[in-house]
Amino acid sequence: MAIGEFDLIATYFTHRYPQRDDVDIGVGDDGAVLKIPPNSELVVVTDTMVEGVHFDQQTPARAIGHKIVAVNLSDLAAMGAEPAWISLALTLPTVDHDWLTGFTHGLREICDYYQCQLVGGDTTRGPLTITVTAHGLVPTGKALRRNGAKPGDWIYVSGTLGDAGLALAASQQQHKLSPDYQRRLNERLFFPSPRVALGQSLRGIASSAIDVSDGLLADLGHILSASQVGARIDVDELPLSLALTESLSETDAYKYALTSGDDYELLFTVPEAQRGLFDTVIAHAAHKPVCIGRVTNEVEVVQLLYAGEPWSMPTDVALGFDHFKKPTSETEPEL
Ligand SMILES: [Mg+2]
Repeated sequence: MAIGEFDLIATYFTHRYPQRDDVDIGVGDDGAVLKIPPNSELVVVTDTMVEGVHFDQQTPARAIGHKIVAVNLSDLAAMGAEPAWISLALTLPTVDHDWLTGFTHGLREICDYYQCQLVGGDTTRGPLTITVTAHGLVPTGKALRRNGAKPGDWIYVSGTLGDAGLALAASQQQHKLSPDYQRRLNERLFFPSPRVALGQSLRGIASSAIDVSDGLLADLGHILSASQVGARIDVDELPLSLALTESLSETDAYKYALTSGDDYELLFTVPEAQRGLFDTVIAHAAHKPVCIGRVTNEVEVVQLLYAGEPWSMPTDVALGFDHFKKPTSETEPEL
């Protein structure tokens, strides 16, 4: 059935999304008109997912709808921002109503959960590509940055690492997983949970923050270069899921945790002076961040330790997770 752009938007993107009071004009005009509360700043992030690059044809449409919003909200979380509005640019090879139904289901579920309103977008014909721009709010001057880490600060990560990378590798036959572990790890790969509440609670506490999208070491590297510091990481303190540790050798498990991407946990630093306040803030958190090391003054040098002794990552273990993984930041500079 032929369907025009307006029908598509009317059918899939105007109804049953959360409606916020701060939206004067949403979908349906040439642009959205949005109210920014006093003493707040707007944080704007964008992410794109392309079929064949970030996901394959087997990826469920609902997962794609969830994940394109989740990865954007993860960037907002890393800035300490509260999600408010998203806009969507959707390029479709054909109008497949089953796919669109699944996609909008995933998109709407996560928008509902975070009370984030879809306020505009565009649809085009072409190779399957989805771009979301998310807008968040942060009290003036309180956004979390990458450049504030100081020697002596403690390094934390918000949850288990390597799960999404192992799920992808297993789907490409690099590893054999039990059906239960495959299911649990696929959940991490397809339906990541952005650490939105944690990001906001770190305002005024964390000295730097980033979300882990390209892998712990790659994203830690962004903090180290922005802050002009180094890091000591205790690999035996890295939080690992049972599904990961039971499926891999200890060395492979650390390698996935350090280098595979797509986990969307927060990586952040806390000064010693803020540690008491931080412990109070996370006392009742559902997922407790884990301390994995300390900031050093050796600029951009990462020391890996195991039981307090220097540890180096073996290079002979082939990891197959990068076929559909986001290109690393060397090839995809963040603008
Ligand atoms: Mg990011």
